[in-house]
Amino acid sequence: SWVRILGALEKKINRQSFETWLKPTRFSHIAGRTLFVRIPSVEFEKVGEKYADLIQEAIDNLQLDIDDVTFQTPQQDPSAPRVREDGGFAPLPSHSLNAPRPSRPGAPAQAGIAAPEQARFDWNAASQLNPRYQFDAFVIGSGNQFAMAASQAVAERPSKAYNPLFLYGGVGMGKTHLMHAIGHDVKRRQPHASICYVSGEKFTNEMINSVRYDKMTSFRDKFRNVDVLLIDDIQFLAGKERTQEEFFHTFNTLHESMKQIVIASDRPPKELADFEDRLRSRFEWGLIADIQPPDLETKVAILQKKAESEQTQLPTDVALFIASNVRTNVRELEGALVRLIAWCSMHGVEITMAVTQQCLKQFIDTQVRKITIEAIQRAVAEHFGMRVAELKQKNNSRQIVVPRQIAMYLAKQMTEASLPEIGRQFGGKHHTTVMHSIGKIDEQRRTDKDLNRTINKLMETLN
Ligand code: ADP
Ligand code: MG
Repeated sequence: SWVRILGALEKKINRQSFETWLKPTRFSHIAGRTLFVRIPSVEFEKVGEKYADLIQEAIDNLQLDIDDVTFQTPQQDPSAPRVREDGGFAPLPSHSLNAPRPSRPGAPAQAGIAAPEQARFDWNAASQLNPRYQFDAFVIGSGNQFAMAASQAVAERPSKAYNPLFLYGGVGMGKTHLMHAIGHDVKRRQPHASICYVSGEKFTNEMINSVRYDKMTSFRDKFRNVDVLLIDDIQFLAGKERTQEEFFHTFNTLHESMKQIVIASDRPPKELADFEDRLRSRFEWGLIADIQPPDLETKVAILQKKAESEQTQLPTDVALFIASNVRTNVRELEGALVRLIAWCSMHGVEITMAVTQQCLKQFIDTQVRKITIEAIQRAVAEHFGMRVAELKQKNNSRQIVVPRQIAMYLAKQMTEASLPEIGRQFGGKHHTTVMHSIGKIDEQRRTDKDLNRTINKLMETLN
């Protein structure tokens, strides 16, 4: 679990600080709900204070059952039980921590109390943008080429190329990465430009708070006076009328004054259910660019680029193994690599095929869980904003027929169920009806790009 926390922190902290203060730390053990972390020397105790809030945030995000994190040098923690973490990590060899003697017997530092480190960057841009999400670091493949080109065009000529730019695609496809890269690039070209990156969730929360504390004026000032507004995961605004209304006005103000707007979403505008039409139609004013899952070659290239940035040598067979065993999500791909690198550095071994298989076994196993028809029905119903029962009814309106056909298609593709069995689980349909439905989707998939994407996305969710 500490490795996972580190993975999350790495994305939020600048490289130098991470290398200096966090990389040398090691998971020790867990006792009750306290996570013990080994530090090489007492100087590292301040890690707990410095990054308290970020550590807490990572624990929350990862939903770990941990209340406290305690940092200890090996001397402070001589009899630590050796607990395997996540089933994958063997006990640490003690030689991997060549800790100097502590200069004073300090009490263990605890996370969760002190104030977070102040951002040392320009408040309006750098502090919100991950320094690693640059265009240079983005690997181009057939699935993201278009979105990448569009993002670069927007960064080069804000408000003049495409406004808004609407990026959409599944989880971990690089939408956030591209948005940050636009922010960095604009900032490089126009150091005085004010850039605001905000998630749909944060926008919503800030709005709610502004209403509550009567601060709407400053809320509006904040979002309506920027040169570039990057709003991520806009789907979060679904069903939130007041927030949508506010965003509608923000959008209009910015657009009218020729300010760039970039929006990211997990689905195209027309599939944003519970959105006002006037907003949806505005999302279509500029350019809509989708990102499709990376193919194998792109996945290998992403892994190699990432390994390079970690100054790690990644053999091609290992890269291929990871790329073909981890499905489409690039975040998981990176997670597997981070885990492998951490494991090898902890054990002081080279990255080889054998080590990789051993280290990633559990990681990959959890990806091939069994998928049930019920799970498919739930995912499809959720995606289309309907109830599972509706998929089973004898209702032949188009809004229901298409999702039902998709669900049947997925049941055939992703489970072992026979056609009659699938028919039974969809309210007693004849197996020829099932066959017909599957055939229809199969055929449409070849030409209908959006249908194809919806199906990929559902498969991704189910996996
Ligand atoms: P999304 O916002 O679409 O869910 P992210 O932008 O958060 O996805 O990407 C997840 C992770 O994968 C990030 O660490 C990102 O840097 C990485 N990533 C995604 N696509 C690429 C790519 N084409 N090249 C390099 N890294 C990528
Ligand atoms: Mg994202």
